[in-house]
Amino acid sequence: MGYAKSEAAYEEAYRYIPGGVDSPVRAFGAVEGTPPFIERGEGAYLYDIDGNRYIDYVQSWGPLIFGHCDPDIEAAVIETAKKGLSFGAPTELETALAKEIVSLFDSVDKVRFVSSGTEAVMSAIRLARGFTQRDDIVKFEGCYHGHSDSLLVQAGSGAATFGNPSSPGVPADLTKHTLLARYNDIESVKRCFDASEKGVACVIIEPIAGNMGLVPAEESFLKALRELCDEYGTVLIFDEVMSGFRASLKGAQGITSVKPDMVTLGKVIGAGMPVGAFGGRKEIMAKLSPEGPVYQAGTLSGNPVAMAAGLASLRKLKADPSIYVMLGEKAKRLMEGFKKAAEAVEVPMVTEVRGSMFGFFFSDKSVKNFDDAKENDQALFAKFHRGMLDRGIYLACSSFETGFISTAISDEMIDETIKAAYETLGEIRN
Ligand SMILES: *Cc1c(COP(=O)(O)O)cnc(C)c1O
Repeated sequence: MGYAKSEAAYEEAYRYIPGGVDSPVRAFGAVEGTPPFIERGEGAYLYDIDGNRYIDYVQSWGPLIFGHCDPDIEAAVIETAKKGLSFGAPTELETALAKEIVSLFDSVDKVRFVSSGTEAVMSAIRLARGFTQRDDIVKFEGCYHGHSDSLLVQAGSGAATFGNPSSPGVPADLTKHTLLARYNDIESVKRCFDASEKGVACVIIEPIAGNMGLVPAEESFLKALRELCDEYGTVLIFDEVMSGFRASLKGAQGITSVKPDMVTLGKVIGAGMPVGAFGGRKEIMAKLSPEGPVYQAGTLSGNPVAMAAGLASLRKLKADPSIYVMLGEKAKRLMEGFKKAAEAVEVPMVTEVRGSMFGFFFSDKSVKNFDDAKENDQALFAKFHRGMLDRGIYLACSSFETGFISTAISDEMIDETIKAAYETLGEIRN
C-alpha cells in the first residue's frame, strides 16, 4: 500500500489548516505515520485518495451505524435537500425526530436539537445550573463531554480537587466550578459534594465511557450516583452522545436500570450529519427559553436535512431490534479474535464490548477508570495501528478511543480483521 497522495495532501492541508486537520485526533498524533485522506465511503469500506481500501471501524467516530451511503438515509437526505437546505423556521421533521426520542427514553419528556455533541452538553449543563440555581458541577476523569470551557478539565488524582483547565485559553475562573471525580468510585463523588460550598448543580457522566477506551460504569456505582443526586437535589446527566443508539437502541439506558434526569445525544442521532440533542424531565426542560428563562439558541439547530438523516436512521433501528444482537455478536467475535491473536504472541490484552461498541487495551489490568486506562502499552498500540492500517483495517488512531461495528460489516470482514491482527502482532513480536 502506498500513501504518497495522502502524504502530499497532508502537507498541503498543513499550510492552510492548523495541524492539517479540523479536529485534533484525526492528525495521527498518537500513532505512526500521517492520516490517509479519504475520497469516499461505501458500505463497510473507506477509500483513500491513493486508492487504498479499508474496513472502517471508526465510522466517523460513531455516527454511521449503517455504514457509508446507506440507501435509505441517502434518499431521505437528497429528497429533503431538494426542498431547501435551511429555513430558520420550524419544520415537522423536528417534531417527528423529537417524538422518536421521547418514545425511546423514559427520562426524556422533551428534547431540543443542536448541531453537535459539544453544544448539547454545554446547553444541558447551563440548563441544569439554571434549574438548580447552583454553579458547581461534577465530572469524571477520562470522560469527554466536548470542548466547551467548563468541561475541558481532566487531569489530577481521584481526590475532590477543583479543576484546572487542561487547555490554554480556558481561564481558571471558568473551571473553578468543575469538580473532578474518579470513574466507578462513589467515595470520590461524595468528596466533591462535601467540597462544594453552595451545592452541586449536576453530575455529568458517560454511563458507558467511550473516550478513555471503552470503560463501562458498574451498575452499583450508577445506583449510588442516583441516590446521591436524589439526596442533594442534584441533576444527573447521562452523556450518551456516543453510547446512544450504539450500546443498545436506548444506549446505556437500555442496559442499566438507573434513570438520569437529563440525557445528551449526538453522533448516531444525525447519521453523519451535524446533530446533537439534549432532553430531560418536563420541569427541567420547561426552564429552557422561550418557555423559561435559560437562554439557548442556534441558527442551524434542527436543520431539516440533518433531521431527515437522523429520522431515517432511527426508524430503521427501531424497525429491527435484532440489529443490536447482530452487532453485538460481531463485536464479540472481533474482540475474541483480537484476544487470541494477542495470546498467540504472549501480549497481554483486555477487551470490552457493549452492543456495537468495542474496546481493547494492551494491558493485563482490568480497566475501571482513567488511571487504569493510562497504563496500557501505547507504543505497542501505535505499532499495531500502523500494521493494521497497512493491511486495510481502519481502527481509531488512539488507544483511548472506542471502535464501532456497522451493519455493513460482515463476519468475513471480521475474520479478515482478526487475520490481520495475527499478522501484525506476529510481525511486531519478531
Ligand atoms: C463525541 C462526544 C462529545 C462531543 O460531540 P461533538 O459532536 O464532537 O461535539 C460529547 N460527549 C461524548 C460522550 C462524546 O463521545
